[in-house]
Amino acid sequence: MTAAELLKSRPYAPSAPEKRAMLLDGLNELTVHHRRNCVPYDRIVKALFNGADTVDELSALPWLPVRLFKRTDLVSVPHEKIVKTLVSSGTTGQLPSRIFLDRETASSQARILATIAGDFLGKARMPMLIIDDASFLRDRTRFNARAAAILGFSSLGRDHLYLLDEQLLPDWNALSSYLEAHRDTPILLFGFTFIVWQNFVEAALAEERSFHFPPGSALIHGGGWKRLEDRKVSEESFKAALAERFGIERVHNYYGMVEQVGSIYFECEHGRLHTPAYSDILIRDPVSLEPLGVGEAGLVQVLSVLPRSYPGHSLLTEDLGTIVGEDDCPCGRNGKSFRIHGRLRNVEMRGCSDTRPVPAV
Ligand SMILES: [Zn+2]
Repeated sequence: MTAAELLKSRPYAPSAPEKRAMLLDGLNELTVHHRRNCVPYDRIVKALFNGADTVDELSALPWLPVRLFKRTDLVSVPHEKIVKTLVSSGTTGQLPSRIFLDRETASSQARILATIAGDFLGKARMPMLIIDDASFLRDRTRFNARAAAILGFSSLGRDHLYLLDEQLLPDWNALSSYLEAHRDTPILLFGFTFIVWQNFVEAALAEERSFHFPPGSALIHGGGWKRLEDRKVSEESFKAALAERFGIERVHNYYGMVEQVGSIYFECEHGRLHTPAYSDILIRDPVSLEPLGVGEAGLVQVLSVLPRSYPGHSLLTEDLGTIVGEDDCPCGRNGKSFRIHGRLRNVEMRGCSDTRPVPAV
């Protein structure tokens, strides 16, 4: 099965053996495509992975360390075909990643996001509250990963209200009018985890405000727990505060990264992140890089059949995670389910660049 055919599968339908066979075909085909069309990628595969074109196991696929995209522009299509460049937000002192999308890769990304979100939220577009400010819409020079995620997710809803101003202060009056206007319809909320906490939940607590969202309203949030962990905010207290302050009972975290389009993993009602048909994760020992089994914590490798315009179909991240199970979540969705524990600390010292040096490209 080709990557294009796999993209037509329902996100959580294929069983583990079906999915493995489909993914292996799609990913092997992408390795061949990228080696033919991206010279630096071909050099890396030759140097680090014995140059094999196709492999029999997902764990034997060549992978790139995710930080390579910070140092090198990797593209597998002619430059004139690039329609969109994604730039990671990056932390201070770090170069951002640059990811190049052609029309085909960009449109499959949008379609897959809608398919996956539809499985959790239903097909109907809900009125949508975005817990962020809209200034990036006016200033495209600030078009980074955060802006790209907001734009991507905003296509899931309608009648958008951006709740925050440029200082990230909420406009509570606008929210009241919005809730009044959409009294009988569940509302979809979207925001970055830390901004939702600080500029929505804590802001409401500080001003002793509470609102009642219609039943069925749902929040999607992502971007990592790191800053909440530093403040000792647990997932449970995050969810409890949203239920108490706003009446929002459905909260879905998601895990994803700008470097791999199509790797979008939603958290189900049972608190597990799920791999859809088009992508998968593997866990590797942070030191030996050997693949680990269910229940063992290690570095997360992400696989996706979407990246065709740049060689990002198999990436080793710097995130730590654990596979919880496969095809056995009580929510009924097939695929692996997993948890993320945060970022490997001092990854520059201990990470993949130490054990498998990446050649200059
Ligand atoms: Zn589940």
